Amino acid sequence: MTGVLDPAVDAEHQWALDQARWLLGLHRRQPPSIPLEQVIRAGPPPRVVLSYGLGVDSSAIAARLLTDPSVRDFALEDLVLITAGTGQEWPATLDLVSRHMLPLLARHRVRYVQVTRRGPTEADGVDVTADSRQPDQLHLVGRWTLADEMFDAGTVPRTCGDRLCSQHFKAFALDTVIAAITQGQPYRHLIGYSATELSRAKRDARYNTDLRTGEYPLITWNMGRAQAQLLLEQTFHEKFCKSACTYCPFALSTEDGRAATVAQFIAEPHAGLLALAMEFSATCLNPTQGLINSRRLLTLLKQSPGTEQMLALFTEYLASVPWALYDVRRTFSPRVDGRFNHARALRILDTGSRVAMHTQLRTRAQAAHAAISVGDPRFPDDQHPRAWMRRRDPVDHARTAAAVTDAEHFLTIAPATASSKTGPAFPGAWRNASQLHLAI
Ligand code: SF4
Repeated sequence: MTGVLDPAVDAEHQWALDQARWLLGLHRRQPPSIPLEQVIRAGPPPRVVLSYGLGVDSSAIAARLLTDPSVRDFALEDLVLITAGTGQEWPATLDLVSRHMLPLLARHRVRYVQVTRRGPTEADGVDVTADSRQPDQLHLVGRWTLADEMFDAGTVPRTCGDRLCSQHFKAFALDTVIAAITQGQPYRHLIGYSATELSRAKRDARYNTDLRTGEYPLITWNMGRAQAQLLLEQTFHEKFCKSACTYCPFALSTEDGRAATVAQFIAEPHAGLLALAMEFSATCLNPTQGLINSRRLLTLLKQSPGTEQMLALFTEYLASVPWALYDVRRTFSPRVDGRFNHARALRILDTGSRVAMHTQLRTRAQAAHAAISVGDPRFPDDQHPRAWMRRRDPVDHARTAAAVTDAEHFLTIAPATASSKTGPAFPGAWRNASQLHLAI
């Protein structure tokens, strides 16, 4: 038996985690970092800040402001564009922005700031990776990317809620830099909501303060996505792409989005591999955590022509990545609205080859007299073995009605990408669930 308190074992687990992330291309050189004080001193506080997300909408705003002086009531030296990088933008989008937008900004000497997160918590801070009126390169892969966060937690971005991954990853980085460079002076904050996104603009306006005033140029110009695209085509003679992380579940939430994403994966098989690997690790630990609601990306790609190279890369990855044996405990605490608060504790018990971890799983299951299930009947491509120490109460509604916490506990194997971690709400919730379990 191995334990996480043994430093030699911890080092072994860390080696496996590092190796797995290296195989996924998540180990990289540190990005450049400009001290925030230097960024503050780089110029007078800007009066207009454009959150530049690299996609069609905000690119159209920037292109129009720079090429058509009649649509703006400020000087370009008062404008700053800021991009917060999540780390895994589509290469085609990066290419378009590099070839068209950066030269345009440089030609008009418009200040462009690029920022990334430095770590998982706000206390880790941000890295300003570039700040220039002559931008010639994108530096949007930071020390801590959204993929690092997802693999570390063994999960995928959630589609419930208001794009929490975006708020967590981009909003914090943008807010930090905007607060620093505006130096307590009032500023206009331009955001690329299109003419059809009035409700998002209304919601954003709630964040106005004495200093910040949100403005939505595409809404003012009555410009929808198609007109924004047309403007970019007329300006650059090329069609622009939507900006998104390569594994964004929102892009996979519609039939059209799925078709477009599969086509992009075929053109960029390594992006497809990262998305598949992320989904695979997450679904080993929780079968419902796929990238497509009630389906799997893996199933979609297996059914799509032209994906052979990507699927071959994925098979190769599963054969070469170090695996881990995980202990997974999850609690479900009923809320007054009839839904559940979830908490989880994840612990790596051992690392090694897939075969060795499978053997370990069987041995431990036998010793604990625990049944091993293979796969989850709801998902045809789920073939993960799980040794069940505790299953959720089948009369779930009775527990829910009584507002009692339920729990599950199993051992499973997965690529060694997720770290051992206990959620802050878990110990109390597990205690509650276990007390009831004993009482029953
Ligand atoms: S593109 Fe998708 S995955 Fe990336 S931050 Fe935005 S919502 Fe999240």
